[in-house]
Amino acid sequence: MSNLTVEVPSFLSSLGALLFCTTVDSVSDLVLFETGAPMKVTGSCHCGNITYEAEVDATAVRICHCTDCQKLTGTAFRAGIPSLPGTFRLKSGTPKIYIKTAESGNKRAHAFCPECGTPIYSAAPEPNPSTYGLRVGGIDQRAEFGPPMRQIWCQSALSWSMDISSAERAQRG
Ligand SMILES: [Zn+2]
Ligand SMILES: [Zn+2]
Repeated sequence: MSNLTVEVPSFLSSLGALLFCTTVDSVSDLVLFETGAPMKVTGSCHCGNITYEAEVDATAVRICHCTDCQKLTGTAFRAGIPSLPGTFRLKSGTPKIYIKTAESGNKRAHAFCPECGTPIYSAAPEPNPSTYGLRVGGIDQRAEFGPPMRQIWCQSALSWSMDISSAERAQRG
């Protein structure tokens, strides 16, 4: 490819964030909007039973503060990143699937490891969906991703989750 650099007006790059659908039920239901080059990633659950590979846009991390994500992750919010269409491949293990029904009636298949419980992805509840909402924490290259570009369901966010900069910091537990 070429090394030509194209300057994008700032109003155009902010427009990208506005193109997301605003009536979604979870972070993984968002319409994919590609802003970066495809990045190959690998991932696994905590016990190593489930392994997978995919390609993602490393700038597409999203946060969901909905109460379903709080329950399903067991923590304050979920961080997700969609796989690019047709790139997700399960390499080992068979996830257990939980079908979640949202208030709207929309159904999502949530996959987790049956041995250790690690959330792996959510996807449309049909055979061979094209994209998967991958859970950022399971991806080996997660530290190379850009910061979240959008957070949704802020009405149910735990108030402190918007700013944890005042919490005392330790390099290890
Ligand atoms: Zn959510
Ligand atoms: Zn596992």
